Amino acid sequence: MTALQSMAAAHGISLAVEQIDQFATYQTLLLEWNEGMNLTAIVDPDAIQVRHFLDSLTCVLATGDLSGKRLIDVGTGAGFPGLPLKILFPDLQLTLVDSVAKKTRFLEQVVAALGIDEVTIVAERAETVGRDADHREQYDWAVARAVAHLRILAEYLLPLVRVGGQILAQKGESAEQESAEASQALRTLGGGPMTVSSIKLTDDGPQHYLAVCSKITPTPQQYPRRVGIPQKRPL
Ligand code: SAM
Repeated sequence: MTALQSMAAAHGISLAVEQIDQFATYQTLLLEWNEGMNLTAIVDPDAIQVRHFLDSLTCVLATGDLSGKRLIDVGTGAGFPGLPLKILFPDLQLTLVDSVAKKTRFLEQVVAALGIDEVTIVAERAETVGRDADHREQYDWAVARAVAHLRILAEYLLPLVRVGGQILAQKGESAEQESAEASQALRTLGGGPMTVSSIKLTDDGPQHYLAVCSKITPTPQQYPRRVGIPQKRPL
């Protein structure tokens, strides 16, 4: 059993040999491309497995089985957490969004190398995607890691999920505080209360947090506001 397999198994996540091979291909491309552009500050292979792959996979502790579901990952960067979730659930219908076209070119290469389908890659701002009928209120899950404060993230993510869908933000120590600060924004955008659960990636690793909120009413048409406004004037 590989290290990634056993670390994932400790969280009840089972990875087959083919999936481990896909992670190896992903890691090779990540390190190759990272020489020419800034994709990740984490370059040690063991650390990539824990802090990128395993960390992304633990979203499943909040989402459950994602087979056949529609998920959008906003500000995905080098593909986290969306692509590891797609490797785990080949039937996931995945959309990856990042405003930096160089990053989305990398993602296109990874998707081609992994031989996976049902992945849509969008080089756009979240605020623009959230107003596009092809994406607005189309998803079961909208997820993000390390993109913005929850007050801002709520405006990026909630317009994208259908009523009954959910948003998930992977957060660090500030999760509870951000969640309290975002409660008004969540209500304004059609969200219910946020629940925060904690996970320890590895026995000696830091605590990570999954902040989840269900959408209970449609997002009012005026949201998301123009590009840059959610960040400049958070709800
Ligand atoms: N989610 C990845 C991860 O955890 O490794 C990348 C995190 S990186 C710190 C933040 C990413 O969000 C960047 O790639 C940036 O281009 C993207 N981003 C920030 N604001 C955005 C927005 N409004 N719309 C789309 N992408 C955005």
